[in-house]
Amino acid sequence: MNESFRSPTKFRAYTAAQFQASEHWKNLNESLRGTFLATTKVLPFRVNDYVLQNLIDWDSVPNDPMFQLLFPQPGMLSERDLWIVGRAMDGGSLEELNAAVGEIRRGLNPHPAGQMTHNVPTMGDEAVDGIQHKYRETVLFFPSAGQTCHSYCTFCFRWPQFVGDVSLRFQAKQSDELVQYLKTHPEVTDVLITGGDPMVMSSRSLERFITPILKETSVSTIRIGSKALTYWPFRFISDDDTKDLLSLFRQVVDSGRHLAFMAHFNHPREMKPSPVGEAIEAIRSTGAVIRTQAPILRHINDSPDAWAELWNESVRSGCVPYYMFVERDTGPSEYFKIPLVEVLQIFQQAYRRVSGLARTVRGPIMSATPGKVQIDGILEFAGRRMLQLQFLQARDPAAARQPLLAEYDETACWFDELKLLALAERQPELRSRMPEVAQ
Ligand code: SF4
Repeated sequence: MNESFRSPTKFRAYTAAQFQASEHWKNLNESLRGTFLATTKVLPFRVNDYVLQNLIDWDSVPNDPMFQLLFPQPGMLSERDLWIVGRAMDGGSLEELNAAVGEIRRGLNPHPAGQMTHNVPTMGDEAVDGIQHKYRETVLFFPSAGQTCHSYCTFCFRWPQFVGDVSLRFQAKQSDELVQYLKTHPEVTDVLITGGDPMVMSSRSLERFITPILKETSVSTIRIGSKALTYWPFRFISDDDTKDLLSLFRQVVDSGRHLAFMAHFNHPREMKPSPVGEAIEAIRSTGAVIRTQAPILRHINDSPDAWAELWNESVRSGCVPYYMFVERDTGPSEYFKIPLVEVLQIFQQAYRRVSGLARTVRGPIMSATPGKVQIDGILEFAGRRMLQLQFLQARDPAAARQPLLAEYDETACWFDELKLLALAERQPELRSRMPEVAQ
């Protein structure tokens, strides 16, 4: 459908209220409108003209994967939560509605994997704003101007960044504190600039954040996490300050750093419009390397075909397949989650269909509280089935690549739901989860 690309005149985004008032509202039937009105009170919503015109197949709504990626669906909020919002919308005051929405959001595990409790670093006694430091070599940096996206994904685990509740948000107004932190942590080699999507920032703002980091010789890699290649490829082709952006990328590369552009593609259709190829070429011409990654999601990309095509298309366009993630246990994850055993099967089947060049991809990966856990396979030993896992990254660096075994469980969808059977000595905090081993 998207081979005939339709060019939007300029970037134009719609909030939930603006979408309701737009000509596009007619595309939703009555039932979808009801879901839209209630769900967007709780979860963020934003789309732009480019995605509406080029990514969604409106003839296949509501099952179309891109519609599922961008629009609220029945089941994203529980029946109970929908009822509470509906009641507050019908007869309650604004205060009652806000209170109900706040309570529902807090119940959706807004900060999974210890982001608020384990990952926030300190200098002296003070927490450093807008930074997460989970793995020794890598810090995540959340510039305040990049805490939005060209469109929002319905599954996003960063949803609290977008709902207007400052208490739920990570953000840094400038890079001063980050630079101070880097000076006292020379073990940090990688700075990941993330959001939201840092590519919503003007080139000048981005430069203000990046240039000071380049003065720190201990930093060898700048990573930028972005979905702009999907949601607004013109950022790299024809925006007013595109030239400055690409020249900033070149400046990073010329400084001797590796610039890793971590591109987020959930479905092969996102790579089809011709501007995406042009944008990929423009980024690669600066010397940056594009790696592709995404979570696996029910209703969107839960098939080996989708993943094999995604990885093949990545390689064909000069990008490096990097990670397949498991959807995190936050926000509307009930709607998107897939049992780990099924996730593994999809990964394996897709992996077997692609050539060695696409097998740079790693997965399926759970970004869990103790680290990045990869599901390696199913083992059968002494009449017992088990899942074999390993940490690719861990809070304790020595635990990386140490194997773990968990009981085979066809229903478990996340690391916390697995019963561990054996683990390496470097994971003492997981011992309490091993009922069959003497504690
Ligand atoms: S683009 Fe990334 S950060 Fe933004 S909503 Fe989608 S997944 Fe979340």
